[in-house]
Amino acid sequence: MAEKRGPNAPEKLVKPEAEWKKLLPDDRYAVLFEEATERPGSSALNAEKRTGTFVCAACFLPLFESKMKYESGTGWPSFFETISDRVATRRDFRLILPRTEYHCARCGGHQGHVFDDGPQPTGKRFCNNGLALEFVAAGEDLPALRS
Ligand SMILES: [Zn+2]
Repeated sequence: MAEKRGPNAPEKLVKPEAEWKKLLPDDRYAVLFEEATERPGSSALNAEKRTGTFVCAACFLPLFESKMKYESGTGWPSFFETISDRVATRRDFRLILPRTEYHCARCGGHQGHVFDDGPQPTGKRFCNNGLALEFVAAGEDLPALRS
């Protein structure tokens, strides 16, 4: 299915999956590049309440700010908004009901699925795999983007 990208989406990083496989632990690779879903409740990021930034665990592009996170009760880190155009979407027909998959707009690493039952002001629920993110607390340096 066609990818939907925002007008200010970052330039794509093209990197063979074999290279990602070398860089990433197996569990992170399975989520990011094989669209695996982690077990609900398994991510320490569920309980992350500090101020900071959530970056793509593959290429380190910042995707969410802590103020965009909320407790959805699903067992996955959830956000009602992303940093503008940092994720791109695609329709996903793996289940019978179509869902909207989203991924890092830079490296293409799978993050999760977005639903329309989130809180205001957006009404969106970005249901994210914790393994696909890394948290950087405010005051710490963001990692340099992987190239
Ligand atoms: Zn990325």
